[in-house]
Amino acid sequence: MMKGDNIMSFSRGPKEPIPEVDTNVWACTGDECQGWMRESYSFEEVPKCPLCESEMQQEVRVLPELK
Ligand SMILES: [Zn+2]
Repeated sequence: MMKGDNIMSFSRGPKEPIPEVDTNVWACTGDECQGWMRESYSFEEVPKCPLCESEMQQEVRVLPELK
């Protein structure tokens, strides 16, 4: 057991972990770009990347659930 691990988990973060769920997102198709957004945050049918304006494609990621 590592000394310090307990303190970290005790003093950090919410008491109840946020559940992670499969989430539809738009991911940037740019080679170097990490841009993505939640589908529920996009207002266009096929949004463009806010960072580099490339096309985006739908994929599913596991993300913390939004309440
Ligand atoms: Zn991009």
